[in-house]
Amino acid sequence: MTKTSLPDSARPATRAVHGGGDRSHFGELSEALFLTSSFTYDTMEASVARFAGENPGFTYTRTGNPTIAMFEERMALLEGAPAARATATGMAAVNAAFLSLLKAGDHVISARQIFGSCRWLVRELLPKLGIAVTMVDLTDIGAWRAAVRPETRLLFLETPANPTLEIADLSVLSKIAKEADALLVADNALASPAVQNPYRLGADVVTYSATKHIDGHGRCLGGIILSDEKRINDLIAPFLRHSGGSLSPFNAWVLLKSLESISLRVERQASTALRIAQELKKHPKVKRVAYPGLPDHPQAEVVKRQMASGGTVLALELADQAQSFRFANGLKVIRISNNFGDAKSIVTHPFSTTHQHVPAEEKPQLGITPGLLRMSAGLEDPDDLVEDVLQALETV
Ligand SMILES: *Cc1c(COP(=O)(O)O)cnc(C)c1O
Repeated sequence: MTKTSLPDSARPATRAVHGGGDRSHFGELSEALFLTSSFTYDTMEASVARFAGENPGFTYTRTGNPTIAMFEERMALLEGAPAARATATGMAAVNAAFLSLLKAGDHVISARQIFGSCRWLVRELLPKLGIAVTMVDLTDIGAWRAAVRPETRLLFLETPANPTLEIADLSVLSKIAKEADALLVADNALASPAVQNPYRLGADVVTYSATKHIDGHGRCLGGIILSDEKRINDLIAPFLRHSGGSLSPFNAWVLLKSLESISLRVERQASTALRIAQELKKHPKVKRVAYPGLPDHPQAEVVKRQMASGGTVLALELADQAQSFRFANGLKVIRISNNFGDAKSIVTHPFSTTHQHVPAEEKPQLGITPGLLRMSAGLEDPDDLVEDVLQALETV
């Protein structure tokens, strides 16, 4: 294999197309798919050397694979992180962050506004393992600071929050983490690497569900965890190697090829999301619109500092569940589903689906009301999407 070269000055869109390339002796232009579980050796001596790490190369795809390695390197270049390990899903990445970096007796501070399965890890799994957890409001810097204890080892958050699109100030939280001698772990699935790079903003560990914008076409599950070389090599890679949450080389290849268009896709999806948000804001039937790209977003100043755009996801609130159901059922182009970051525009009712299991008394605290809908802008013609939203509002 021969690494393809790229100037250090290459910008993100260029890195997303070429980064991490590694050519076989055939000189293929498009990255090769190594759909193999194992690797072979010319001699027993070569096999011993490979296992001892004296002879670089791969042994078994659970521990490493050339196609997966290209995806990892491309993602590391995009995020601005020194090292990365791909995982089977976004949740395998978040799980790896917790289980490889924490031990019994440690304390974690987590934002309250997190993805349902992340919430299960934090609220159910960690306490069972003897790891104490304090939940705080994502945007309340004072609460994060007040929650710090001598045994605090990790701060966990997602920004923007799903589905309310509230924003955490990553550089301030990274300072709080540093002062506490704790790690800041950011799940950046909602923003995507094309909008925000938490590692550059001070996060110690960044996770992605590659299922979302990185695939961007709703085809396969995947995830990735990024950090510095030492933390990846000493803690995260051994955990993943032995616990089995590896990415399939086929999915790695799909994700690697999808990265080539991520800048273009996310830029277009974000400009469409802004247009839809602006149209919704003018509409008398819409109670509230949340979109980080709107100038009146409560944390607009933080958005400007840490995000390249408002992202691809917005939320709108109608009067009640009956209205939000009628609106979603009335859409003709935008599909009812639960993903985001997809080429197809999607509407979701978090109260009854993605956040169904959040206890009833906590839903208002999280801003998850029966009238709330999350919308992910896709790659359709923006005029068709605006028309679709306006005609569906007529049915409400
Ligand atoms: C979707 C998502 C996950 C989980 O990703 P999977 O690939 O479905 O496992 C984790 N965090 C956030 C913020 C997500 O949106």
